[in-house]
Order: sequence, then structure tokens, then C-alpha cells
Amino acid sequence: MTYKDLEIWFVTGAQLLYGGDAVVAVDAHSTEMVKGLNDSGILPIKVVYKGTANSSKEISEIMRAANGDTKCAGMITWMHTFSPAKMWIHGLMDYKKPLLHLHTQFNKEIPWSEIDMDFMNLNQSAHGDREFGHITSRLRKPRKVVVGYWKDENTQNKIAAWMRVCAGWADSQDMLIIRFGDNMNNVAVTDGDKVEAEIRLGYHVDNAPIADLVPFVEAVTEAEIDAKIAKYEKVYEFADDCKKGAEKHQSVREAAAQEIGLRRFLEDKGAKAFTTSFNELEGMKQLMGFASQRLMAEGYGFGAEGDWKTAALVRTMWVMGQGLPGGQSFLEDYTLNFDGENSTILQSHMLEINPDITGNKPRIEVHFLGIGDAGVCARLVFQAHKGEGVAATIVDMGNRFRMIVNEVKVEETKALPKLPVACALWKPMPNLEIGAGAWILAGGTHHSSFSFSITTEMLEDYAEIADIEMLIIDKDTTIRQFRQDLRNNEVYYMLNKAFR
Ligand code: MN
Repeated sequence: MTYKDLEIWFVTGAQLLYGGDAVVAVDAHSTEMVKGLNDSGILPIKVVYKGTANSSKEISEIMRAANGDTKCAGMITWMHTFSPAKMWIHGLMDYKKPLLHLHTQFNKEIPWSEIDMDFMNLNQSAHGDREFGHITSRLRKPRKVVVGYWKDENTQNKIAAWMRVCAGWADSQDMLIIRFGDNMNNVAVTDGDKVEAEIRLGYHVDNAPIADLVPFVEAVTEAEIDAKIAKYEKVYEFADDCKKGAEKHQSVREAAAQEIGLRRFLEDKGAKAFTTSFNELEGMKQLMGFASQRLMAEGYGFGAEGDWKTAALVRTMWVMGQGLPGGQSFLEDYTLNFDGENSTILQSHMLEINPDITGNKPRIEVHFLGIGDAGVCARLVFQAHKGEGVAATIVDMGNRFRMIVNEVKVEETKALPKLPVACALWKPMPNLEIGAGAWILAGGTHHSSFSFSITTEMLEDYAEIADIEMLIIDKDTTIRQFRQDLRNNEVYYMLNKAFR
């Protein structure tokens, strides 16, 4: 179990119509199922069986308890027998956490020669789950529906993906994002409605003057810096002019002080993510690029130039990907490489890419950065390894948040001897023409949150839980259909508000 402090509750719908024996059997079957799910080794969060719910009162009590329990990150419901769904109305209206409706059956196959009316009274999920599905639809309740036999890996994998999203969602409900400086002047796409973000997505965005951070960096001792440098020497390669005693080593020491000071500042505030700005560096010796790389690798969300939405999503991706190979990073569409069907986009930023996405040993280099007040900056230089991943963003469309996901294939990058930055080279699916075209039509950012670890399915689950718009660009995307989806969504979100 990866998320040790969390639980997913399992509630079985039933009723008392079929007598006490049926309820006892339902309870025994549910206990066995929950044990089987927990023992599968596939689910990253413990499932806790909360018993059968046989009346409106019982259902409301369970839902209220789930809302109030900080360990409970979500609920799985399953209707073993027929559970009349009016009983679920008040409870579901109260329920505020992620919901997964599991459409399964205790026995795998029909016992053809044995089946009788007692069996039918007990094993009614085929129609019981449809009754429950009706009321969740009628209430317009966001949820994931998983259909499949509970012992099948495919079924368990779908539950596992959703559980990871529940963990990410729980984490974002008290996420504090610290911003050093505002959004880069005049930039539209990285900005948005922070009040709506707190209502809809849970996180809180606070400004911090860089002057508040400066004393934290200045308080770092030489001994603390020495210890950090010793650590870096173990895991990174040093450019010759950055090694101890060489001319640029002092800049690496300053970057180490920034890392230590920034971490203390964020811990002090209880922040999970942060943004920086190259125009907000009064009292700093360099832009905190190296520190941002190091903190991203620890799980802090990061966005450059005040991009708080990307910072939050990078953090959420880190939580969702816990224990999975790969890693996630803040990235930016840097420059294009046209080559027919193999056209690619170089992904990078001035400094701030997470070293978790490389298979190589990152190299510490120090170079002048001629933008804003960045100065001479240390950075980790590397190239992302090859593989498949997802790039995602959330943009503010004025009346709603829109998540855009593009599946991408990361390829080998050629050497960039005169561009000393960390980078990735990817081909957006299905190709650059459609991938980038759809992203631009959707109004997607030039910044994105990228992950090798998490899947489109998880981001779909996230958008469902958050109840925000979702657009997916994958191998099946066509521009014609995508444009129609955009038009349809405009109408949907206009009417959707009126319904509620
Ligand atoms: Mn940028």
C-alpha cells in the first residue's frame, strides 16, 4: 500500500426485503471481496469495508461519516442485491468525496445447474447496479463506473488508477501554493481565477514577497552548504568550471543556499507548491532554477513566471504517481523541429526541469542567463529518457476550467552543445500537425505538467472528480471531431450551470 494514511471506504447496497439470511450472506460476500481486493497487491490504498447500507438513514450516516473522516479519500459502492435508489438520494446529495461505482458480481459465472430463486434474491447486481446508476445520473453526480469481475486484474487496475487520483485529490484539497511575484506581465494563459480554483480544485494561492525569502537563504550556514555540495558530488557530474576551487563553484554554493532556504520557507508556510519570477529577485544572487529542480524532485509543485495552475498540477501528478517509475516535471514548448510525420517539439525551460525524468546523471553547470534579473545561474543539465508520457494543463475559460491532455512520445534528443538546459524532445500524438493543432484550438498553455508515470485514465478520473471540462488528444484525435467537441462543450457548460 503506497498511501499509508489514506483509506477507501467500501459500502454495499442492500435492503431488508429478502430477510436476515440474505443480509448476512451479503455481508460475508462483501467482506471476502474487500479482503480479496486488498490482498491483490494491485491497489495502492487500503479498502475498508463499512458494512451494508439497508435504508436511507444508514446511507446518510455513512456518507456524513465519510465526509468528516480525513483518512477517507473516496468511496466504492456496489449493489449486491437490489437497493432501491430513493434511499440513496439524501446520502449522495451530502457526499462530497470521490465516488467509484463498481459493477461486479460476487460469483463469476452463472451456476447453471444449481441456480434457483434464493440465488436470484441474493445476486442482483445486474439490475441493482443499474438502479443505483440511475440515481447517480439523475443527481448529476461525478463518479467513475468500473465494470468487471472483482478478481480480474483489469478491474483492479481501473480501481487502482482511480485510487491514485483520490490520493492526488485529497492532497490538493489543502494545497497551499506560494508565489514569489505575480504572473509574468501581460501573459494570459498562465493566469486565471484563483477564487474559482479554490472553490473547484481545492487549492489556495498566496503571494510571498521575495524579501521574505531572502533571510531564509542568508541564514544558511557554510557547513550546511558543504554538506549539500558533498551530496551533489555523489549524484551529479560537475562541469569542470563548477568543481570545488574552480571559478564558478561559488554560484553552485549560492544555489545550494537557495535550495536549503527555499525548502525551509515552504515548510514554514506548509506549502506544497510554489512559483518563481525572473523579475522578482531583489536580494537574490540568481534565479532559483537549481533549487526549483531539486525541490520538484522531492515532490514540490513548480511553475515558472507565476504559473500557479501548472505548479499545482505538477504536485498533483507527483502524488498520483507515488511508487510508479517515471517522474513528472514542469516543461515548456520551446522550439519546433519539422520533419514530416516525425516532427517534434523540444521541451525545456530556462532552468527548471525535474531531474526525475532523465535516465542519465545530470550535470551541474553555471551560465549567465540574460532575462530579467536572473544573473549567473546554476542548473542541472540533462536529457529526458525515451518513453511514452502525458502532457497536461488546466486553463481558465472564463466560465469553467478546462483540462487538456496530450499523449506524447519522448524521443532521443541530439546534443545541444550551445543550449545548456535540461530538455525533452517529444512527438505529440497523433503527430505534430494534429497534436499541436488541437492543443492550440483548445487554448492550451505553452507550459505543461508532464509525467512518465501517470496515465490519461488517471487525468480523466481527476477531471471527473473535479467536475471540470476534459479534452484528450491521442492517437485517435482528428481536428474535425476535436473542433466539434469544442463546440459541443461550449453548449454543455452553458446549460450545465443552468441545470444546477
Ligand atoms: Mn515559461
